[in-house]
Amino acid sequence: MSAKGSEKFVFISGGVISSLGKGISAASIGSLLESRGLSVTFIKMDPYINVDPGTMSPFQHGEVYVLSDGSETDLDLGHYERFTSVKLARHNNFTSGQVYEKVIANERQGKYLGRTVQVIPHITDEIKRRIQKAARGYDVCIVEVGGTVGDIESLPFLEAIRQMRIECEPNQTAFVHVTLVPYIDTAGEVKTKPTQHSVRDLREIGIYPDILLCRCKTLLTDEIRRKIALFSNVKTEFVISACDAACVYDIPLKLHEQGLDTAIVRRLNLRRAQEANIVPWRNLSKAVSEAKQEIVIGIIGKYTSLEDSYKSFNEALFHGGIANKTRVSIEYIDADNLNARNVKQLLKGIDGILIPGGFGARGVEGMMSALKFARENDIPAIGICYGMQLMVIEFCRSLCGISDATSTEFEVPGTPVVDLMEEQKKVVSKGGTMRLGDFECVFEKDAPVAQIYGRKKIVERHRHRWEVNNDYVEQFEEAGLKVYGRNPETNLVEVVGIPEHPFYMGCQYHPEFLSKPLSPHPLYEGFVRSICKRKKKS
Ligand code: GLN
Repeated sequence: MSAKGSEKFVFISGGVISSLGKGISAASIGSLLESRGLSVTFIKMDPYINVDPGTMSPFQHGEVYVLSDGSETDLDLGHYERFTSVKLARHNNFTSGQVYEKVIANERQGKYLGRTVQVIPHITDEIKRRIQKAARGYDVCIVEVGGTVGDIESLPFLEAIRQMRIECEPNQTAFVHVTLVPYIDTAGEVKTKPTQHSVRDLREIGIYPDILLCRCKTLLTDEIRRKIALFSNVKTEFVISACDAACVYDIPLKLHEQGLDTAIVRRLNLRRAQEANIVPWRNLSKAVSEAKQEIVIGIIGKYTSLEDSYKSFNEALFHGGIANKTRVSIEYIDADNLNARNVKQLLKGIDGILIPGGFGARGVEGMMSALKFARENDIPAIGICYGMQLMVIEFCRSLCGISDATSTEFEVPGTPVVDLMEEQKKVVSKGGTMRLGDFECVFEKDAPVAQIYGRKKIVERHRHRWEVNNDYVEQFEEAGLKVYGRNPETNLVEVVGIPEHPFYMGCQYHPEFLSKPLSPHPLYEGFVRSICKRKKKS
């Protein structure tokens, strides 16, 4: 198999330890190449056997990031979309599970003509086929290899990209290795040995990195860069410090200042590349550092011990802050610890609350105590998906006289004000079977949410099975919780809110997946604005 297309590839691997920020590095490279007028796309290759992360617990995997086409993907795709203008699709994220599933299906169909099916070449060919397909038509495809060099699981991916270097034209591939250069207190200096070893591991499997992105506390000295270059067999100007940054959105700027995009443009001989226009990122960085006011938002959920579970929420709230020249700090509150008796105490100092998405019955009483408290005390509150369903249940219990209002998801007896969608009742398989991806929502005339968006009709991303039960809408609308928007085809409730409250709104969809630092989502911007307004008054 050969790669004859004109698209170029940046392959990103990680060494020494996990969580070095390969995803942010890939996203930053994408933003810099876009700022040079190039078209980019991304691929994340995940080494696990699950077909996608949709069935994994947030504790295992962090957030599941949902794309427009309804695919449930790795949270790194969120970074890619936030840092660039790309709109990704199913083929931009694949797992070992998907690759094996396809190869085994081919084998059952007799496509290998009686040959023994092996990792090399059959699995690696399937990996290369997927990479080339997703890259077609773009100037540059940035491919992130999940896992850390040395892991058994990611070996077929590394082998596939090794083969691609040989099969592609000389300037068609660049290998970027993200590594760690730790500062050791007792020695009083940074240590390059872990990087040397990690590059050696890569070279053992035939991959010779072109560019090293060295995660470090402060800029590496030229002497250290020369040393790393010498031992790793790369050019000194291609050894780049990726320093810790106070704000992730400063990273493209910092990498640009050190010549990362120039290094890639040179390595790939990208003749169409223009001068980088990084003004928007510079303005953003300035806006973030100049934010004066500070507000605290409480995210009340059940996966609060792992911040990555709420990645897109954190980012969207941060973007909403930027739009309001406000620093948003987030406090994670474990719903299991919250109840009607301690809610006042535990929400002290919180300016607004967000109830995020979730599944199952654990923690719902705590979340509903927080919602009730916010509703009764004019504290701005936003409920996302599960959060909106809980808004409806709490309201029905407190103000509609339906004291046993519940969702059938909780598997307790009661009045199902939130119920399973008709088409979901038949579904038994778990993966990819929810109401997923883009659906339209049309707002009611005069609904406050329409002003916030400045539009009557929107398209947002979804990921759920349960719905507000239309049989109870009249009852809760009469009591003051209004339906602000519905899906025009199915009449399903999409947005609810209390018009008299400073901000009490829930949506069945996930607006956080559409928010970007350079274009904050109107709903999060509006939520933060209402908090700032209320804070100014008090
Ligand atoms: N568990 C709820 C449902 O499936 C909410 C899902 C979510 O919050 N993403 O409808």
